[in-house]
Amino acid sequence: MIIDFHVHTFPEEIAVKALSRLSKSANIMPYTDGTLDCLLHSMKENSISHSVILPVATNPTQYKTINMTAAQINEKYHDQGIISFGSLHPDNDNYKDIINSLAKDGIKGIKLHPVFQGVYLDDIRYMRIIEYACEKNMIVMVHGGMDISFPGKDYAVPSHIIPVVKKLKPDKMILAHMGAWDCWDELIPFLSECHIMLDTSFTMTPARRKNAAGEVISVDAPLLSKEKFLKIARLAGIENVFFGSDSPWTMQKESIQSIKDSGLSIEEQEFVFYRNAARLLKIDI
Ligand SMILES: [Zn+2]
Repeated sequence: MIIDFHVHTFPEEIAVKALSRLSKSANIMPYTDGTLDCLLHSMKENSISHSVILPVATNPTQYKTINMTAAQINEKYHDQGIISFGSLHPDNDNYKDIINSLAKDGIKGIKLHPVFQGVYLDDIRYMRIIEYACEKNMIVMVHGGMDISFPGKDYAVPSHIIPVVKKLKPDKMILAHMGAWDCWDELIPFLSECHIMLDTSFTMTPARRKNAAGEVISVDAPLLSKEKFLKIARLAGIENVFFGSDSPWTMQKESIQSIKDSGLSIEEQEFVFYRNAARLLKIDI
């Protein structure tokens, strides 16, 4: 059994446009066409029982459409293992209403992306959202570290993450990309003193793009070494590490293989691949 805690899909009518825009800004290529159908196909091929879709509201008005779509997806694709989170923007002063309505619709969590949303994670606007979401027992997935699309933007680096962790002690906040993409060393000193949950997405598989001749080449982007992955995973505690791929930006197949090859024991892999996620998402295994 495998649960992928970090994927993205786009409604069919905007998938082509959205994917080409994101692909251009990050200069990496997607591995699916970004639609739910394509994700379902990949899940089937790789024996993935569930995938968690993580939409991001990049402006304060987007939450309405995003959260409505999330509720519709959950209803329609529940039996096929699709779980969509909702999202909101730090400038949504009505964050309590939004979170209440997500909870009412049975949505299990929210995604926050300080880089795409242009606000530091330890800003009061995020703190209040995270605090309230925790109160409502929701999972909070946060982009962790730098972002390949926005070089130099440090909205979610450890110096802005740790104050939130220390002040709010969120029990269901997951930091994507092993907590701190491209600044992992800064997170390591805090792993044994704080309760920090992490997803494995976009850390050990190379991103790729097509060159002018149409050939697929690896992008020169930071990768987490196996040694550092093991160190971070074990310092955080294996019960706090969740498998994620970041599909369509990596292949689910390749992401699974990277965990199998990481040096984790079979038992540790079971926790990462599905036991931890099943516990948090309340999925029977
Ligand atoms: Zn992602």
